[in-house]
Amino acid sequence: MRIAVLDIGGTAIKYGIAESPDNVTPLGEMETRAKQDGGEGIVKKAEAILDTLSPFDAVGISTAGIADIKTGAITYANENIPHYTGIPLGEHLRNRYGVPVAVRNDVHAAAIGEAAFGAGKDFRSFLCLTYGTGIGGAAFLNGQLLSGQTDSAGHFGHITTHRGGKPCGCGNYGCYEAYASVTALCALVKERTGENLNGREIFARLGEPVIKQSLSDWIDEVVVGLASLIHAFNPEGVILGGGVFNESVLMDEIKARLSTLLMPTFQQTVICKAALGNRAGLLGALAIAKDALLKEK
Ligand SMILES: [Zn+2]
Repeated sequence: MRIAVLDIGGTAIKYGIAESPDNVTPLGEMETRAKQDGGEGIVKKAEAILDTLSPFDAVGISTAGIADIKTGAITYANENIPHYTGIPLGEHLRNRYGVPVAVRNDVHAAAIGEAAFGAGKDFRSFLCLTYGTGIGGAAFLNGQLLSGQTDSAGHFGHITTHRGGKPCGCGNYGCYEAYASVTALCALVKERTGENLNGREIFARLGEPVIKQSLSDWIDEVVVGLASLIHAFNPEGVILGGGVFNESVLMDEIKARLSTLLMPTFQQTVICKAALGNRAGLLGALAIAKDALLKEK
């Protein structure tokens, strides 16, 4: 068995090869140049990479944007990757290489990776949330990823937590990610101190009362969204992704505050960190490609 895997992001296309069913060897990455080269450029780069990895039995792809899981077509990508929407990525690569090709949205692929190989291994039902520029999410229920009608389920960052609140990139107001993403934390600190600090710098300066208070206010925003989601899904676990959760003080504080908001039958929800880091996409791509290969047989 030899499976080629790609993780297509707005800044880089990572790639690797799996020669056993449970491990990927990352081989490198190529700059996406998404703004300059657009969707067509991504197809050309994917081909160039796959040509060097050939021969293989299947291809797994985790990608930015929304992918139709049946056809592997990109049904939606935002302005960060111009002209990616509508590209029949899966069909194109299937025709070119004559092997099964599985394509998934990157957030879903990462959750599938965590389910198969990472922090989700011991859960039948869990939620994944990744906090960064925005907030990505996925729900894994009874051993299956919840895809949704248009393979877009889990956009937890766009649940409204503040009616009529701050504007969000999606065009609405008061979305969870406008308050609880790491970008929102940095914006809050900037609003109060005038300084442009990144997440790490904020944690390094918690001795300053204004920064400590800003972090605390942000944690409240994070926890409010998590409590709502836990009440909606009643998962066994919630897996939190994003570099910010390497700060152990943050995990402890989130758990403590969550327990004050959760109803009694939700208290046993396990809150943990994502285990696979930036390998989640490639490992998720491996899992979906293995699936596609099985279905072929
Ligand atoms: Zn939004």
